[in-house]
Amino acid sequence: MDKERIEKAVREILFAIGENPEREGLRETPRRVAEAMEELLKGYELKEDDFTVFQNQSQETVILRDIPFFSLCEHHLLPFIGKAHIAYIPQGKIAGVSKLVRVVDKYAHRLQVQERLTEEITNELWEKVQPKGLLVLLEAEHLCMTLRGVRSPGSLVVTLGVRGIYEEQESLRNAVLSLLGR
Ligand code: ZN
Repeated sequence: MDKERIEKAVREILFAIGENPEREGLRETPRRVAEAMEELLKGYELKEDDFTVFQNQSQETVILRDIPFFSLCEHHLLPFIGKAHIAYIPQGKIAGVSKLVRVVDKYAHRLQVQERLTEEITNELWEKVQPKGLLVLLEAEHLCMTLRGVRSPGSLVVTLGVRGIYEEQESLRNAVLSLLGR
């Protein structure tokens, strides 16, 4: 990421909105924004780490609820902030909890739309864990919705990715969704 270029662009924005980038409070702003961008978008830099799975014959549903995430909406460059929930039925393999969290993080820390974020997480887990069924539910508040346009603070966008048996069997899917409070 070219931080210097971001800094220059932020200075331009400050000029464009009629501010003086040299005034005390703004002098360090371009650098701070560039650093914030780097942090928010670090998902591009994260290497494909070895995604450890453990052999396990359990066929019981695994649910990981309330994984916090934040991402940056690619339409407005404003954050959307929420929680991811992952449920799967293993088929010989289970994944470490930290790995699941890392997959969410890797894709969230990019310019995103929530639908694609959900799909990317779902695809990667489906491929790596190869479960019998997989359900990924994301709920997030988008600052671009809350602060501008329709202005609906507190409203959540909910997106759902389903694969395998959860796709085929509505009753199983509904059981998991109700466990997730949906
Ligand atoms: Zn947006």
